[in-house]
Amino acid sequence: MEDVEHIEKKMKLIDENGLRLDGRKPEDMRPIRMEVGVLKRADGSAYIEWGGNKVLAAVYGPREAHPRHLQDPTKALVQCRYNMAPFSVTERKRPGPDRRSVEISKVISEAFDSVVFSEQFPRASVDIFIEILQADAGTRCAGLTAASIALADAGIPMRDLVASCAVGKIDGVVCLDLRKEEDNYGDADMPVAMIPRTGEVLLLQMDGHLTLDEFDKAFGMVKDAIGGIYEMQKDALRKRYAVTAEEFSDLPEQAPPERRAPPEREAPPEMPPEDGEVPQ
Ligand code: UDP
Repeated sequence: MEDVEHIEKKMKLIDENGLRLDGRKPEDMRPIRMEVGVLKRADGSAYIEWGGNKVLAAVYGPREAHPRHLQDPTKALVQCRYNMAPFSVTERKRPGPDRRSVEISKVISEAFDSVVFSEQFPRASVDIFIEILQADAGTRCAGLTAASIALADAGIPMRDLVASCAVGKIDGVVCLDLRKEEDNYGDADMPVAMIPRTGEVLLLQMDGHLTLDEFDKAFGMVKDAIGGIYEMQKDALRKRYAVTAEEFSDLPEQAPPERRAPPEREAPPEMPPEDGEVPQ
């Protein structure tokens, strides 16, 4: 055991040029790709690839909350279930909820509860499912970011989108968006979720320690990164819903409603002739 600890402590995460294991600079994020509307059966959905993370988010609702005793007559419940697939990590993950996934589900539910206009849907629930298909640290941030655009895809009224990213410290250096080795062998990891437009923090967790100065630096870095992710989210939503000029001209021509001809009605059945003879 002592040997293992010795090896872990010796693992160099930043080289002599100041670059990380994957060649990133401290302030670099991993590549991100996101897509909205990837599942047919859900009301809203999104898929995100973020470095080695692959995450699906699906949203149902607002729909009647079940079981009924959980219904809140004043507002909708915003419920999230974060789940890691058994094949998402190197060592098979035991299927089903564990302490970690229950905690992550809770903090994500609370983050969205403060942005969804839940008072508009008493007794209802908005259900968010986050499935981690492949994990490489930062899955709660990837899940939150995907769930936010899945909620928008489902048409759930919200104050704004929520975006998320983690920041941490490795080999004594504050770095953005840690990958698994950095998360495991680094000094600190701090996932943050915000409403980027207002700067409101909806989630902030900390594993490890940062000094006050390091915290200020880390927070500034993650805030900027979250601003960039917000733009990517809006782009992904535009891609799903925007119609280009060419596509628009291909649409069947429709006059505005007030100029449209009244719908054609079926001719009324013919009246029988007056002498009572029924036509054959
Ligand atoms: N991890 C794992 N097995 C588990 C839980 C986590 O291998 O049962 C890995 C996984 O790659 C995850 C990383 O450890 O992304 C960091 O987990 P953490 O709890 O810090 O959450 P995350 O950073 O994914 O939000």
